[in-house]
Amino acid sequence: MVICSGKSVLEGVAIGKIYLFKKQEYQLVKTQVADTECEIARFTEAKEKAIEQLDALYQKALVEAGEEQAMIFDVHKMMLDDGDYLDGICNMIRDEKVNAEYAVTMTGESFSAVFASMDDEYMKARSVDVLDISRRVVNNLAGIVEGGIASDVPVILLADDLSPSETVQLDKSKILAFVTKNGSANSHTAILARSMNIPALVKTDVALLEDYNGCQAVVDGMEGQLIINPDEATTQRMIRKKMDFEKERTQLLSLIGKDNVTRDGRRINVYANIGNTQDVEKVLESDAGGIGLFRSEFIYLGRETYPTEEEQFQIYKEVLSGMKGKKVIIRTLDIGADKQVDYFELPREENPAMGYRAIRICLDRVQVFKTQLRAIYRASAFGTAAIMFPMIISVSEIVRIKEIVEEVKAELTAEGVSFNRVELGIMIETPAAVMISEELAREVEFFSIGTNDLTQYTLAIDRQNQSLDSIYDPHHPAVLRMIRMTVENGHKGGAWVGICGELAADKSLTKTFLDMGLDELSVSPTYVLGLRKTIREI
Ligand code: PEP
Ligand code: MG
Repeated sequence: MVICSGKSVLEGVAIGKIYLFKKQEYQLVKTQVADTECEIARFTEAKEKAIEQLDALYQKALVEAGEEQAMIFDVHKMMLDDGDYLDGICNMIRDEKVNAEYAVTMTGESFSAVFASMDDEYMKARSVDVLDISRRVVNNLAGIVEGGIASDVPVILLADDLSPSETVQLDKSKILAFVTKNGSANSHTAILARSMNIPALVKTDVALLEDYNGCQAVVDGMEGQLIINPDEATTQRMIRKKMDFEKERTQLLSLIGKDNVTRDGRRINVYANIGNTQDVEKVLESDAGGIGLFRSEFIYLGRETYPTEEEQFQIYKEVLSGMKGKKVIIRTLDIGADKQVDYFELPREENPAMGYRAIRICLDRVQVFKTQLRAIYRASAFGTAAIMFPMIISVSEIVRIKEIVEEVKAELTAEGVSFNRVELGIMIETPAAVMISEELAREVEFFSIGTNDLTQYTLAIDRQNQSLDSIYDPHHPAVLRMIRMTVENGHKGGAWVGICGELAADKSLTKTFLDMGLDELSVSPTYVLGLRKTIREI
């Protein structure tokens, strides 16, 4: 039995087998092979597997995004069967006696360069596709399972670290718990784990041994422990702990339909945070009053091209109609910092958390912003939508945003597209926004305080820096005073004020938040009923 300690991101107990998650990047090595025909057979098998994967992706995309989007996978399939491409690879294996991974990568790169030099725009665009199909074949050769988990039963996922886009791509139905060796409790990966409602540990002192793959293990989210190969007594104790935890959860269900009201009659809205359409079901089950933060950027992660207006419209429509009239606050694209998306081609930065991100990108790449706004406005006809803008630092940004919003509304009106009134608000997550919150409040209808970033920028501590986790303190008096100031100024300027950062779920502060006069707390669906219980006991 091996006991490892980590930082718990979500309470709960998971019992199952470990799955060692391999990073998707393959480090290319060139090796000499003796049996070239055997190497060609390896390549052919990997290529056939890629064709099957592309078939499955075509079907998935057809259902989720429509034929136009799905076509790309058909194109990839055709390219994988291209005679010149196949000959290039097989000849290289035969002539140079090299491994298939090397031959595929080299052939892919040279085909890609040829496409890139063509004049025809369509052919030029294929240069990325040929790299993509080559990467797929190489991953198959190297046994890397793309965004997937090669297991039929749900597993405890053990990884070095996970980026938000890797997390988004994972098949959630196959995960009992996450355990990462690195990572910060304030990162978006941790936030995703919370929203998926599964126990998770980060910064765990575990060795990533191949031997652990398939071993029985327990994740104890209360104690922050990963127990590998537990003995019988420990297993029995953990089964009981899991049952007790689930019983407590079930007892909370008696609070469904009850008000979020203190004993002396003070009411507060408790909303939920989501990252995708699947989360809506959890929000409904949790009986949250609405969605206080839909992190729309997750729609942009884990894919290779921009989501179209139509794709986004379908997603927002599904969320809005699923919420049956309850408010849904969609936060516009907050890409940048730890949420990197290759096709945005963001410049490398010394300090990305303080760099080109969120509203800064949207106000610079207005077409990307407008596409999202059009999709949200179109979807607004199907429920009660609100929009909020991240990383605001000045009144002029809001003035510009409102101009763009008006342009979008005018375009839709001219096209005869109907939409509902949409409440507009901003996130307060920079000290600058706090200091000018009275002026900002006159421009918008609501504030939502992003305590994750507000803590980062107030304390000058990178929320991603795991070695500073111990001093990243959202309870710091400076952060709490910032929140108080925002509420007071927001109310003075006529805006309602909520918190959608992780601090909203911190029950040791619920009374403080009520005293400060907050109007809303938006938390991961898993925390809604627990928070309601706390409020009702105050
Ligand atoms: C925040 O900063 O508190 C917030 C809610 O936004 P995110 O965590 O997505 O940056
Ligand atoms: Mg933020």
